[in-house]
Amino acid sequence: MTLGKYRQKREFSKTSEPKGAIKKTSLSRFVVQKHQARNLHYDFRLEMEGVLKSWAVPKGVPEGKGIKRLAIQVEDHPVDYINFSGIIPEGEYGAGTVEIWDKGGWKLIEGSLGAGSLKFNLAGKKLKGQYVLVRFRDKKNWLIYKT
Ligand code: MN
Repeated sequence: MTLGKYRQKREFSKTSEPKGAIKKTSLSRFVVQKHQARNLHYDFRLEMEGVLKSWAVPKGVPEGKGIKRLAIQVEDHPVDYINFSGIIPEGEYGAGTVEIWDKGGWKLIEGSLGAGSLKFNLAGKKLKGQYVLVRFRDKKNWLIYKT
């Protein structure tokens, strides 16, 4: 029940976000959604294991090398969320505007989420090349940067 947390936080009669389901596809996609909520942030999501593994990146995923950004892991989102853009109504979880900032394919180079270290390639319009996600000891906070 990896979508349990996602569903618990949302009232699907009020938000147009997808209720979704665990859905294994043959694709490996990523998306970055610019989310103007109470605080502007960028949600980075990797399609993996039938869900979107997700991180909130307050300052955005860097387009160039030499910049490390904090990425806070958040609840898994359904694969259908990859196409979501729109307005989450006032009073609902994450209220504000969501727009797709970039999307494309991703490919694992080495590592794993479980190991807390992942090197991968992104092929988007803005984000291209090799990236690293590495977890801090607290298990929730990660760094993302381009190598
Ligand atoms: Mn968000």
